[in-house]
Amino acid sequence: MTPVEQAGTKQPRVVVVGGGIIGAAIAFQCARRGAAVTLLDAGAPGGGASRVSFAWINGHGKNPRHYHDLNRRSLDMWPRFARLLDADAELTWGGEVRWAATEEGGVQLTARARQLQSWGYPIQLLEAGGLTRLEPELTPGPVTAATFTGIEGHVNAPNVVALMSARLIEQGGAIQANTPVTGFTTDGERVIAVETPSGSVACDYAVLATGPDTTAVAGLAGVRVPLYHTFGATVYTEPLPPLFTTAALVHTPRDAEPPLNIRQLADGTVVLHGGTHGELHDRSLGESEAEIDLLLMAARRYLPALDNAPIREVRRGRRPIPQDGLPIIGFSPTRPNVYLAAMHSGVTLAALTGEFAAIELLDGAEIDILAPYRPGRFEEE
Ligand SMILES: Cc1cc2nc3c(=O)[nH]c(=O)nc-3n(C[C@H](O)[C@H](O)[C@H](O)COP(=O)(O)OP(=O)(O)OC[C@H]3O[C@@H](n4cnc5c(N)ncnc54)[C@H](O)[C@@H]3O)c2cc1C
Repeated sequence: MTPVEQAGTKQPRVVVVGGGIIGAAIAFQCARRGAAVTLLDAGAPGGGASRVSFAWINGHGKNPRHYHDLNRRSLDMWPRFARLLDADAELTWGGEVRWAATEEGGVQLTARARQLQSWGYPIQLLEAGGLTRLEPELTPGPVTAATFTGIEGHVNAPNVVALMSARLIEQGGAIQANTPVTGFTTDGERVIAVETPSGSVACDYAVLATGPDTTAVAGLAGVRVPLYHTFGATVYTEPLPPLFTTAALVHTPRDAEPPLNIRQLADGTVVLHGGTHGELHDRSLGESEAEIDLLLMAARRYLPALDNAPIREVRRGRRPIPQDGLPIIGFSPTRPNVYLAAMHSGVTLAALTGEFAAIELLDGAEIDILAPYRPGRFEEE
């Protein structure tokens, strides 16, 4: 019998460790469902990877097919999720454009677009000249293929965390910032309390959503979560006039150095992210000032409107990446009331993860499409 069943109508006590976009989404959705939720964060909620994120909501480079479908489903859930936040989440749609600069890159981009189309993803191959007709401010250089994916967008992830935190408090939940979890009290296989320097917090369920620190935090409960992290940076300009006519995001060629990702926030701030994350390579520009200069030079080459754009801030952080690249979502095989949620593309996946985790935690259901992402897959190694 689960603690919820034992408790009858009693509210289950859910302690969520980690207040990034994933932990906050689970806490928020559980509180909406009537659970007694405490959210603990070692620092300020929203101050981890979620603060640094490029926050592109997409199903673009996601393989295999089931992982693409998971991202697509979450992308489609975002508008409803944002409405629940009951304030402007700065969710910006408009789509994504990208292009290739070399013959080989063009062949690859075309093949990828064809594959995504066959999966029902609305990505269009643009005719010659179509890219600059769509985005006249761009000076793209050579274009061997170009695509537009109209359903993609981005969001202000720290703002979403702040809104979820506000709604959580309204639902009677509690948030303790600057409260690192340092251990777990167990009774047999179950965790019965989460330990912090300011005391212990009793729980029926412990949710571990500590982003790149999940391996270390789960290790305190004797749970193995194989995760690695890579460096990532985003550069924020002062607000500028609108750069794009149609799209919300631009990805410059992956086959020209350096690959850049560019988006603009509602207040005009331009966010630059240099590098790529994906199957082929995983690297980011921005670790040093010299790299930031390189990134800015490239950005001005593609978008002259960025000339002399003053830089307001550089955010640096770590991407949480499960060992096999796929999300880790579900109950620990060794600690049956510990729920794990660690993933890259956590901004895209937050809408789905929050809602699905609440169903699994509070209804005792097992969601079948989460089967490939269960923590137990690492036990067999
Ligand atoms: C540069 C960059 C670009 C990215 N671009 C995208 C993108 O375009 N689209 C996309 O979907 N995803 C993107 N991602 C990935 C995405 O941002 C992450 O997957 C997501 O933010 C992870 O959220 P999280 O809540 O799991 O982790 P975090 O946001 O890192 O939150 C974890 C929280 O746990 C807390 N914590 C840690 N240890 C403890 C402890 N012992 N006790 C209590 N609290 C603790 C931390 O303080 C932190 O607040 C990007 C990431 C980076 C870094």
